[in-house]
Amino acid sequence: MNISEMNWPQVEEYLKTDDRAVVPLGCTEQHAYLSLSVDSILAERVAQEAAAPLGVPVFPVLGYGITPYFLSYPGTVSLKAETYLRIITDVLDSLRRTGFRRILFVNGHGGNAPGQTAAIEWMDQNADCRVRFHNWWNAPLTLEKVKAIDPVASHASWMENFPWTRLPGIEQPAHQKPMVDLERMRTFGPEGVRDILGDGNFGGRYQRSDEDMNAIWSVAIAETRALLEVW
Ligand SMILES: [Zn+2]
Repeated sequence: MNISEMNWPQVEEYLKTDDRAVVPLGCTEQHAYLSLSVDSILAERVAQEAAAPLGVPVFPVLGYGITPYFLSYPGTVSLKAETYLRIITDVLDSLRRTGFRRILFVNGHGGNAPGQTAAIEWMDQNADCRVRFHNWWNAPLTLEKVKAIDPVASHASWMENFPWTRLPGIEQPAHQKPMVDLERMRTFGPEGVRDILGDGNFGGRYQRSDEDMNAIWSVAIAETRALLEVW
């Protein structure tokens, strides 16, 4: 159930018998020819589909993340790590205050990893709560499915190209891009990263069949839902 489709008395009623909540974490950053909001779209959709049959409220996706390396690409917005940790902590404080005790972050962006550290630190002060930080795209079963379909998969490649992240009228290149040297790229600032990366895909094909993507999606939904069922 999306929190945008609930009023506060309904949340109060829910909290009489349950204390679970889901918060999707996204990002606004270059994804080559795909939407700048790929990570937000995917995290929110995985969260919503996973939680729907369980009736657990899903909060709006946090649409900004930590992504300083892509700042030379127009449209990218990066929060400072310090800002991000404060947001994560503020969200947790608010949810706990009204009665939530089990909170699942469904994260769609690798750069948001410091948020997990913030959650662990927060639990030290809030021992009555449990927080799980779930990177849905590299969770074991989902990543295994990705690798089985095509081992050359990366940021802004086919593995992020779903019917709901591609843009109408935008053609995807047909070739398989060689994997970029990630270790070397990480030694450069935003200008150097753009020089090395070009269109923004880290490596791999740009698109695969909807059948392949739906197969990955089903695994991701089931894997995420299982986390909500067993705490
Ligand atoms: Zn992404």
